[in-house]
Amino acid sequence: MNAPCAKRCDSCHACRTTCPSGAIGEDRFPLHAESCITFWNEQKADVPFPGWIELDWHNALFGCLRCKRACPENAPHLDNVLDGPAFEEDETRLLLAGGIVEDVPEPLRSTLVEWRLDVLFESLPRNLGALVEKEQRRRRQVGHPSVCDVS
Ligand code: SF4
Ligand code: SF4
Repeated sequence: MNAPCAKRCDSCHACRTTCPSGAIGEDRFPLHAESCITFWNEQKADVPFPGWIELDWHNALFGCLRCKRACPENAPHLDNVLDGPAFEEDETRLLLAGGIVEDVPEPLRSTLVEWRLDVLFESLPRNLGALVEKEQRRRRQVGHPSVCDVS
């Protein structure tokens, strides 16, 4: 094993215990890609999330990064992670509606291009929809007003 963090990996299981989907086995490597959330939220737009992915597991528009954030090797670099764009509710509705990125009005389209979300635009209804649904459920549980009604 030639990975730079291999030595630490001998006594560390942070990534494995953080992964919600069991994609990282007891031996850590190789990753069970078919169980990784990233594998599924980077599928083509018409591929639905499998039913075994629980709503709470979604935490990013694309990718996941829970295991990378938990890894002590990455701790010195976490401050270098940029916050992504924020979308207003009307913009969120547009993104959830799907379609083609060329029809998205400015300045939203420029934001999508800036963050390279334009190339992943067609997958946003699925991925963003899961995050919105998760937030809606959380708000219902705490008796908080609903966020962007996608139903
Ligand atoms: S990216 Fe997420 S789902 Fe994939 S292995 Fe890491 S924690 Fe698990
Ligand atoms: S969290 Fe990082 S150091 Fe720990 S086992 Fe996973 S890859 Fe290795």
